[in-house]
Amino acid sequence: MSLYNETKFIMKKYNISANKSLGQNFLIDDEAVSTIVDTAKVTKDDLIIEIGPGLGTLTSKLLEKAGKVIAIELDKKMVLVLEDRFSLYDNFECINEDVLKVDLESLISEEKSKGLKTAKIVANLPYYITTPIIMKLLEEKLDIETITVMIQKEVADRLVAEPGKANTGAITYAINYYTNPKVVLQVPNTAFIPAPDVNSTVIQLEVLQKSKIDVIDEEMFFKVIKYAFMQRRKTLLNSLTNSKILGEKEYIEKMLSELGIEKTIRAENLSLEEFAKIANWIKTKS
Ligand code: SAM
Repeated sequence: MSLYNETKFIMKKYNISANKSLGQNFLIDDEAVSTIVDTAKVTKDDLIIEIGPGLGTLTSKLLEKAGKVIAIELDKKMVLVLEDRFSLYDNFECINEDVLKVDLESLISEEKSKGLKTAKIVANLPYYITTPIIMKLLEEKLDIETITVMIQKEVADRLVAEPGKANTGAITYAINYYTNPKVVLQVPNTAFIPAPDVNSTVIQLEVLQKSKIDVIDEEMFFKVIKYAFMQRRKTLLNSLTNSKILGEKEYIEKMLSELGIEKTIRAENLSLEEFAKIANWIKTKS
C-alpha cells in the first residue's frame, strides 16, 4: 500500500483529522521517509527518540532497525493510534507529553544503563516549535550522537548557514557551536497531507563531543551573540553599545581594536571564533 493510502486508511479507521495548531502534517513520501531513516544510520545498538511521531509513518521504519524507539507525542489521539498500531513491538514506548517538558537526560541515561550504546534523535518536527525543540536538545548537552530532522526550509537555511556568510542569525552560531550541520534532502510540500504552506528540508546535526572553539563562559558568549543580532542592521559596535552589556562606546572600540576586529563590522559578518574572542575578552578584562 502506498504511504498516501496507508495514511488515509489510518485517519479514517481512527476518525482522525489533522490538527493544524499542533503542526500535524503527515508524511506520505517514501523517499523522504527512507532518506531520514538511512541518514540516521539506525542500528540495534541505538535508542531512537522520535519527537512528534503522529500516526507512526517514520516510527514503523525505525522500529525495524532500532534497539528501542521512544516516541514523544503531545496529542492523545495519536498516542492511541500508535499504541494500537505497535502493540506487538517490545522495543516501542510512547510518552504522551509535550517534548519541551520531558526529562530527556534521565530517559537517555536509563536506557543506556540497560545496554543501548547510542542515542539519536529522529523526527519530522512540529514546525511551530522547531527552534525551542532544537535548542533544548543542544543546551541540555544531551548524550546524543545525531539529530536528524525534517524542518521548514527557511528555518533549515538559517540553521545550516555558514557563520560570517549570508543568511545567518543568532541561532546559526548556536548550531555551529554545538554541532556539525548538514543538509540532507529538500522535500516539497506535496509530500504531506495536509500539504503545509511551506517547503521542507531534512537536516542532520552531528553533535560535537568537544566544541570547535574555546569559550570561557557560554552564557556570556550567547549573550553577546544575542545582543549583536538584536539589531543586525547596525554595526556590532553600535549594537553592543546600545545593549549596555559592556559600557561606553569608547571601551568597546578599545576592545575591538585589541582583538583586531574592524569597528564597522556587522554581527552577520563575524565568525564563531570572533564572537568567542569578544566574550572571552569581556569575561577576563572587564
Ligand atoms: N511524524 C509524523 C509524520 O511524519 O507523519 C507527524 C509529524 S507532524 C509534522 C508533528 C507531530 O508533532 C504531530 O503528530 C503533533 O501532534 C506532534 N506535536 C506537536 N507539538 C508537540 C509537542 N510539543 N510535543 C510532542 N509532540 C508534538
